[in-house]
Amino acid sequence: MPAKLLEGSPIAVKIKEQLKKEILDFDKGLVLASIQVGENSGSVSYIKAQTKAAEDLGIEYRPYKLGDATTKVELTALITKLNSDRSVNGIIVQMPLPKQIDYKGVLSFIDPLKDIEGVNPENLGKIILAKSKILPPTVAAVMELLETAKVKLYGKEVVVVGASEIVGKPLSMLLLNKFATTTVCHIATFESGKLSSHVNRAEVLVVAVGKAGVIKGDWIKEGAVVIDVGINRINDKIVGDVDFVTAASKASLITPVPGGVGPLTTAILMRNLVEAAKLQRANS
Ligand code: NAP
Repeated sequence: MPAKLLEGSPIAVKIKEQLKKEILDFDKGLVLASIQVGENSGSVSYIKAQTKAAEDLGIEYRPYKLGDATTKVELTALITKLNSDRSVNGIIVQMPLPKQIDYKGVLSFIDPLKDIEGVNPENLGKIILAKSKILPPTVAAVMELLETAKVKLYGKEVVVVGASEIVGKPLSMLLLNKFATTTVCHIATFESGKLSSHVNRAEVLVVAVGKAGVIKGDWIKEGAVVIDVGINRINDKIVGDVDFVTAASKASLITPVPGGVGPLTTAILMRNLVEAAKLQRANS
């Protein structure tokens, strides 16, 4: 029996409808500042999706484009300026950054109240304490998909593949907070040849690697829930990290790529902007 599709787009539509009402509460409107450093094709599709989502909601999207040779000092100076600009409600630093800038050293400069990607160490750290008000949008999207599909996490074998600071690590902590028995797989799991056996145990599998086909469909446990976060461009086509067709013949629920995590992530980014604006209002 083929898997049912777990689509993000319908949930994203509902979130945006709700946001349109909430945004009316802000007389001066809302502003999202996006900083791009250098020409990196990786962030182009994200920026396009963010611009469109902001436009649809009547949010001002303010792009800042810095040159390839920008230093950390120049970048953090711009962030600091935007932190103190009261018209700006949210700040995004688009990844990847050029090699000369250590991104981990930049994130702590973003005002936690304007950090709508939830990447400032203060916001990331609050996830451990289950006290976070602004979650990284991708991990919030994964949790929202699971919740919408009423997937029970308590005591479940959940396997997360990929251990990045922005997806795999914070997600594993949120799953742990829901009492899932959480395993995190990474490059060493793959290189030691143990990835397939971990994937095969997963009742819920979340993959965020960024390599098309890294998860073979026949590794999937019968009846598993599969969330594919990966976005890979292959010959002008967008595909995920999981071999979709074979995986769908074994899973009970699976996210499509595109149309799964992606659209929901963008909607949640906008929701984070509104939440951040509310926090700023409460703190002013
Ligand atoms: P990332 O920073 O490159 O992290 C990828 C993780 O996977 C790293 O921990 C990496 O380990 C690990 N990895 C690499 N090769 C592996 C393998 N063969 N087996 C197991 N683990 C492996 O990427 P990210 O930012 O987390 O994003 C992951 C994917 O999600 C990308 O395709 C990205 O485009 C997509 N994404 C989608 C959304 C969305 O809205 N749908 C949002 C964000 C990201 P090492 O670093 O040690 O090699």
